Order: sequence, then structure tokens, then C-alpha cells
Amino acid sequence: MTLDEAGLAARARAFLAEHDPESMTPVEFLRARFDAGMAWVHFPEGLGGLGAPRGAQAVVDRELAGTPQHDVGRLAIGLGMAAPTILAFGTGEQRERFLRPLWTGEEIWCQLFSEPGAGSDLATLATRAVRDGDEWVVDGQKVWTSSAHHARWALLVARTDPDVPKHRGLTYFVCDMRAPGVEVRPLRQITGEAEFNEVFLTGVRLPDSLRLGEAGDGWRVAQATLMNERVAISGSAGRGGGVMGAILDAWRARPELRTHDLHRRLLGLWVEAEVTRLAGARLREQLAAGAPGPEGSGMKLAFARLNQQVSGLDVEMRREEGLAYDDWTFRRSESVDFFGRDAGYRYLRAKGNSIEGGTSEILRTIIAERVLGLPAEPRADKDVPWKDLPR
Ligand SMILES: Cc1cc2nc3c(=O)[nH]c(=O)nc-3n(C[C@H](O)[C@H](O)[C@H](O)COP(=O)(O)OP(=O)(O)OC[C@H]3O[C@@H](n4cnc5c(N)ncnc54)[C@H](O)[C@@H]3O)c2cc1C
Repeated sequence: MTLDEAGLAARARAFLAEHDPESMTPVEFLRARFDAGMAWVHFPEGLGGLGAPRGAQAVVDRELAGTPQHDVGRLAIGLGMAAPTILAFGTGEQRERFLRPLWTGEEIWCQLFSEPGAGSDLATLATRAVRDGDEWVVDGQKVWTSSAHHARWALLVARTDPDVPKHRGLTYFVCDMRAPGVEVRPLRQITGEAEFNEVFLTGVRLPDSLRLGEAGDGWRVAQATLMNERVAISGSAGRGGGVMGAILDAWRARPELRTHDLHRRLLGLWVEAEVTRLAGARLREQLAAGAPGPEGSGMKLAFARLNQQVSGLDVEMRREEGLAYDDWTFRRSESVDFFGRDAGYRYLRAKGNSIEGGTSEILRTIIAERVLGLPAEPRADKDVPWKDLPR
């Protein structure tokens, strides 16, 4: 069978005829979908894909729309960041081991990148990994780790050589979150919930088989994760969907809220949402031709700005009701749920959009330097061994 759109649609329908979601558990259905190559069609055969063009995924997704789906809020790091990184840098065994349970949601992933002293300047990170025979011993502290309380595995960047400049002494690992010495402590957010955590790593022993990429090449692997992260965070809501959809619902349902000024602002945001959506579609087409480039930074920047503006207008339009967020119960978030929650929650949670996955200031610098070709910021620490940097 060919892998053109019609062929793929027929293949998806044939899959559905053989796998009735009503008579299977959601996990069984997702496993079967992976095995049939319809998890991510652009992945190789045997790894959840069919070696098809990336753009063809939409055809399969459309055909299987009414079937069990992922909770993307819980699986975002696995699907958006771990999967493409493992595909690009993992060994055959790593791909075989990790991709299937990641896709089915049986194993949740988190990202151990940020540290108290290394966020925007991630390459300064201080968590150490020291080789001991066939193992690495990891010591350090990570912070803002979303989903660490659910996670089975983590993407971890650690310093393995303090004697070379900061970008060169890093190595990338998969961290076993059940290994002795991994301690996860909740951190409370502006919404009142603990969606993220501090993670303390004390003498954590990781087999060398959990290294992703070469020792010392961790920055290059991390860059691949970060570029995918920006694309993943930017979302892919359809026209009038996403946070825009929530505000349009309020506008349609509440004629008494309509004023000329609000109408004008709503239209302005609608136009921006459309531009962002179309820019996203273009970016995904570029992705079909290769790895994500720095354009993903522009996309993530626009997404964060728009989400904050739209969620702000949403609260304003709903007046007292919009300001009524009062659920400060301390709880461990199960998922990031923008759409099953009220406007006050969306407004507060959207504040994080301009920080998570790279702050807007840093993304502007990336766009200035790598997209527009403007002169680079002076970087005095580029050739200094990490151990000699002031901290
Ligand atoms: C909701 C949420 C979820 C997150 N989840 C994760 C996660 O799962 N895993 C993970 O590893 N991390 C996670 N993070 C952390 C996030 O990636 C970092 O917070 C972010 O990279 C910024 O780092 P920082 O907090 O250390 O701020 P800093 O780097 O200290 O920056 C503080 C401010 O200074 C600005 N700034 C810094 N350097 C420059 C410069 N050179 N030029 C101009 N301005 C500059 C920044 O833009 C920012 O406004 C999450 C954060 C949030 C908010």
C-alpha cells in the first residue's frame, strides 16, 4: 500500500475495523495503534511509525479522532521532547525500550534541566555525573520540574567535565526516577497547585546504557530537546480554538458583555491568533523537511504573548465571575488543563507561558542573533573552563 494521503486514510480505517476501541481498554488500543505505525507516522517502522512524511499525521489523526487519545497535559514532555530526542540520539535498544510505553502513556517523562543557578543560562548547570565503571554517579539539585511526581523517567543534563568551557563538559542521560537517591519535593505555583517540583539527586547511580549521545556532547542533545520543546509548547489549536475558543464562547453566550471597545480588541486578538496559527502550520511544514530551527523560538514567543493577552481579556469580559478564582487548595496537579478550568485559572497559569521552555527575553535574543543575524551579545565566559567561572 502506498503512503500517500488516501492510502494512509484507508490504512487507518482498516486498523479501526480490526481494533474496536469499545472492546479494548484505552491502553490496549494505544498499544495497537503504536504497533500499526500510527503513533507518529514519520517515525521508522517498528517504532510507532511508517516512515511517512510528517505532515501525513493529520490524516491518521482525523480518521482516529473518535478513539482513545492521550492526556497531553500529562504526557507533553514525553511526546513533545523525549520522543524526538530519543529518536535522534538514542541507540536501537533505547528506542525499543522507551518509545512504546512513552506513546501509550504507561510511562510518564519529566525534564531535569533547570537548576537554582542555571535557568536561562542552562549551560552553567552544576549537577555532577562522575563515571564509576559501567555506571555514573549523579549529585545535584534541579528545580521547576513539571510532572516529576508522576514521572517514571527523566531527561537529565549533568556536568561530566568541569575542566572545559561550560557548553563542552555536559552529558545527557535518561534518569531513572525510581533509582535510590532521587527525591521529589512539591513547589506551589501562583494557581495554588504544585505542578512542578524540586528534585534532589544524591549519589544516584545510572548505568552507562542510560546515556543519550556521547559523553561531553550533552549540549547538542539538549539543544535538540529545547527546539522541540518550543514547538511542542506553542500548541496547534485550530482556527478559533485553544484559549481563543474559550473567550469566543463567552462572547457568543453573553451579549450583555459586548461593547464596541471589547469587540475591537477581540478582533485584534483573533487576527493575531490566526497569524500565530498559520505561522505554526508553516513551521510544522518546515519540520517535515528536517529538524526544528530557531523559528520555533518566534512561535513560542508569539504563543506566550497571545495566551497572556487572551486570558487577560477573558477575565475582563467575564467581570466579577472572571475574577472569582479562589481555589487555593494545595494539590498535586494531575494535568495542565486549560480548557476544563475557569477563566481565573487560565489567566494565572498563562503567566508561566512566558517563562517555561525559555523566557521571552531569551527567545528575543535567539531571534535577533540566529534568525535576523544581528550582532551577538558579548559572551565573556565562552572559552573559560566551567570550574573557573564565578558562581
Ligand atoms: C510553569 C513552568 C514549568 C517549568 N517546567 C520545567 C521543567 O519541567 N523542567 C525544567 O528543567 N525547567 C522547567 N521550568 C523552568 C524554566 O525553563 C526556567 O524557569 C526558565 O528557563 C528561566 O530560568 P530561571 O527561572 O532560572 O530565570 P533566570 O534565568 O534567572 O531569568 C530571570 C529573568 O532574567 C531574564 N534574563 C536572564 N538572562 C538574560 C539575558 N542574557 N538577557 C536578557 N534577559 C535575561 C530572563 O528572561 C528572566 O526574565 C519551568 C518553568 C515554569 C514557569
